[in-house]
Amino acid sequence: MAQQLGGRARSLQEGPGEYRLDNGQHILIGAYTESLGLMRKLGVNLEQSLLRQPLRLRYPDHEGLSLPPGPPLLSFVRGILSYKTWHLSARLQLLARATVWLLQGFRCKPELSVAQLCAGLPSIVRQELMDPLCVAALNTPSSQASAEVFLRVLHDALFSGRGSADLLLPRRDLSELLAEPAQQWLRVRGTQIFLGTRVHTLKQAADAWHLEISGAPQGETQCFDQVVLACTSLQAAKLAEPWAPAWAQAAQALHFEPIVTVYLRAPGSALPAAMVALNEGPDAPAQFAFDLGALGHAPGLFAFVISGASDWVAQGLKETGAATLQQALQAFNWRCSPEVYRVLAEKRATFACTPGLQRPGIQVARGLWAAGDYIAGPYPATLEGAVRAGKNAALACLQV
Ligand SMILES: Cc1cc2nc3c(=O)[nH]c(=O)nc-3n(C[C@H](O)[C@H](O)[C@H](O)COP(=O)(O)OP(=O)(O)OC[C@H]3O[C@@H](n4cnc5c(N)ncnc54)[C@H](O)[C@@H]3O)c2cc1C
Repeated sequence: MAQQLGGRARSLQEGPGEYRLDNGQHILIGAYTESLGLMRKLGVNLEQSLLRQPLRLRYPDHEGLSLPPGPPLLSFVRGILSYKTWHLSARLQLLARATVWLLQGFRCKPELSVAQLCAGLPSIVRQELMDPLCVAALNTPSSQASAEVFLRVLHDALFSGRGSADLLLPRRDLSELLAEPAQQWLRVRGTQIFLGTRVHTLKQAADAWHLEISGAPQGETQCFDQVVLACTSLQAAKLAEPWAPAWAQAAQALHFEPIVTVYLRAPGSALPAAMVALNEGPDAPAQFAFDLGALGHAPGLFAFVISGASDWVAQGLKETGAATLQQALQAFNWRCSPEVYRVLAEKRATFACTPGLQRPGIQVARGLWAAGDYIAGPYPATLEGAVRAGKNAALACLQV
């Protein structure tokens, strides 16, 4: 439907000489093996394209928790025990709680929130570790976020082999990392891609699906024996409604969380690390800041990320940009005064990953499948969730 591939994971260039900005800063973890495998298959050199580092929560004024290299579970225990900023009792309480989660197989009641899961842990542990991890991974504040999904992400980060808890930060813009190599890969193999082409309606007749399309060079209706709806949940619900009302209702019922990215420009300046965790507060919107110069693609440009940003969107983007600038001025030393370069808001960035959420499955109807980050699966709205759902839908088509 859009004029370029990539969906929410795309880069935008507004004019010549302007920075090519990501729709929002993306991070991956080592456990996201399907998305990393897909990039590799598309010919992306992962070592050059992603900065891989053990989990490290660097704050502006102090080094936060970081995990030493090594087997993830062992480095988690070593990282926690050696993090002297927390009182010994706080470190031991976290390890004791993690042991309980381990003994329970990283499972919990579906109705539990992350805040409830972490209740009783020292507030420093919740503020410096659990809350930032939760909002970064689930884009949902811990009081509203699903503990079940959070535990699954933790489990996979700690138990999917060496490097699974590593953070991977893009060194290229997002389109270079996924959409453009995918486009190239498909074209070389003769796949036709129609940009700016919208599927309006789906009709089923004589065991085939007819798509009514606007903007396609081959005419307004096309017919297929299998169709994968790889669009947003709301678009998929609209298309599927006449043929699978229950499926459409589940897709329609999802709520969304916005993410705002404030890009600041300050030539010659640098942050103390490529990714810095920030203390969020009533006047301080951002939870993380990224130094795009340190990441090797835009020196002097900094991305401040506000996840779970509905309150800030309600206040207005100009106000959000101004508050983020103040937060940045207070948090860091700048070589020259930073200025707001762009404020990008994605109002439906991810579905709200709330407790007990019922997500629709890949099969919509006979010969009709769905793929996307919102499809039922172990992960929150992530590239990994979207890639897994895409792969499952493709496999399902082939098996029919
Ligand atoms: C600001 C931001 C930050 C994020 N950060 C992270 C992160 O750090 N890590 C991470 O893993 N994930 C992150 N995500 C989430 C990640 O981007 C998404 O999970 C992923 O891109 C979803 O892919 P998708 O294929 O499900 O949907 P989309 O990317 O939304 O793609 C849907 C596509 O369908 C097309 N389309 C829609 N309707 C129609 C129609 N009727 N006809 C034809 N085409 C149609 C659209 O044009 C679009 O190209 C972030 C998202 C945002 C917005």
